[in-house]
Amino acid sequence: MKFGIERPQTWQVCIACGNEMVESDPHARCVRCGGLLEIEHRVPRMAPEELLRRFTERRGAPRGGSASGVWRYKDIVLPSATEVVSYPEGNTPLLQRASIDRWAGVGGLLLKHEGYNPTGSFKDRGMTVGVTQARRIGARAVACASTGNTSASLAAYASLAGIPALVLVPAGNVALGKLAQSLAYGAKTLLVRGDFDDCLRLVEDASDRLGVYLLNSINPFRVEGQKTIVLETLEQLGWDPPDWIVLPAGNLGNTAAFGKALVEARAWGLIDRLPRLAAVQAAGAAPFAQSFAEGFARRHRVKAETVATAIRIGDPASYDRAVKSIRETDGVVLAVSDAEILAAKAAVDASGVGCEPASAASVAGVKRLVAAGTIKPADRVVAVLTGHILKDPGALLHYHREMDPPPVGANRPIEIEPTIDDVARLLEGGSPC
Ligand SMILES: *Cc1c(COP(=O)(O)O)cnc(C)c1O
Ligand SMILES: [Zn+2]
Repeated sequence: MKFGIERPQTWQVCIACGNEMVESDPHARCVRCGGLLEIEHRVPRMAPEELLRRFTERRGAPRGGSASGVWRYKDIVLPSATEVVSYPEGNTPLLQRASIDRWAGVGGLLLKHEGYNPTGSFKDRGMTVGVTQARRIGARAVACASTGNTSASLAAYASLAGIPALVLVPAGNVALGKLAQSLAYGAKTLLVRGDFDDCLRLVEDASDRLGVYLLNSINPFRVEGQKTIVLETLEQLGWDPPDWIVLPAGNLGNTAAFGKALVEARAWGLIDRLPRLAAVQAAGAAPFAQSFAEGFARRHRVKAETVATAIRIGDPASYDRAVKSIRETDGVVLAVSDAEILAAKAAVDASGVGCEPASAASVAGVKRLVAAGTIKPADRVVAVLTGHILKDPGALLHYHREMDPPPVGANRPIEIEPTIDDVARLLEGGSPC
C-alpha cells in the first residue's frame, strides 16, 4: 500500500519495492517482496533551532526517558513513543589520547566509546527502541541471532520489559563476556552448531512460523536507535560535523543507521554538510569491502573468519541499506587484517581507553586510510569504539599471555616467590630467579 496525502507521523517502507506499512506492523520484512524495511518520519514540524533546543534541554535530566542518550532525540527517533524501556543508555564519551593519535598518524582523533553503554556495546541504543516497540505491539516473546552483543543486549532489555527472550548464537564462537551476560540476564540461549549466518536464517524462520518478534539488526526500529550514536556525536561537536566518521562493519546495521542519521540531519537542517563514512571490515570477513571495490556491482557472500567475532559475518543482512549510506556520504569501505586489528587494539588498550577486538578495526582503518592519503593528517576524524574491553577476556589473555613469539605490546604476567627481593628485582626490570 501507499499512504495518501494524510501521512502518519511515522511509517515503515520497503527499500526494495516501496511498499508502505503502518508503524505497528510486526513483520520483520516487507510483506509483499521480502525486502528490508526502513522507518520514515514526516519532516518534523519544528524549526531546526527548536529541535536542537529540546535536545539540549533534556540533556542532564536526572531520570526518565530524557536521561537517555537515545530518547533525548525521540522527535527524530520514534516520536509516538510514550512509555519507553530504558536504562538509560547512550550519553557515551568522546575520548582522545595522544598515544593513539601518534599510532594512527592523525592529529586529534576522537573516539566515540560505545562500550560505556549499560551492557557494554552500542547494541543497547537499538535495543531500547526495539524492545519498546515490542512492548507497544504486545509481542509475546522476542528473539535474535547474534555474534554475542545483540544477545547480551536483548537479554537485558527483555528482562527490563518482562518479555521472554530467545537468543541464537554460534556454538564455540561467542566471546566469553557476551555469553555470560545472555545467561545471567535470563534469556533462553541456544548454541547453534553453525555460524552466525546459519543462526540468522534459523531465527528469521522461527519468527515467521512461531510469531515471536524479531530483534535482529534488520529490525528497522533498532536502526532508529543506533542513529543516535551519530546524533550524540554531532551534538558533542556543537553540530559542526567532522570530516570523517569511521566504524567497524559486520552485519552493516550501524553503517545503515549512520548514513540515515546523517542524511536526515541534513534534510532537517541540523547540519549543513555530511561527513564521509569509512566502514572497516576484517579481511577474513569482508564481503562488503569486496563489493565496494567493484563499485557495488554485485553482492558477495564469504565464509567468515576473524579474531574480531563481533564482525565475523559472511553475508551481511543490512547490505542494501549500507550501500545507500556509503553512496550518500561519499564513503569508503576497506578491510584490515587481524594483525592490524590486534595491533590497534593493543594501542587503544595500553592508552587506558580499552575496547573489544572488533572495535579496534575502526582505529586500524584510520591508520590505513591515513597511510593511503585518503584521510589527511589534519582532518577531523571520529572513530567509533563499539564495545567494552571486558567483552572478550579470552582474546585479551591469549594476546598477552600465550602468543608465541609475544606480539608487540604483549604484557606477560610474571609469577614470583613471595619475597620482597623478587618484587624489588622486577621493579628494576629484571627477571625473577
Ligand atoms: C555488532 C557489533 C559490530 C558490528 O556492527 P554491525 O552493525 O553489525 O555492522 C561491531 N562491533 C561490535 C562490538 C558489535 O557488537
Ligand atoms: Zn517490498
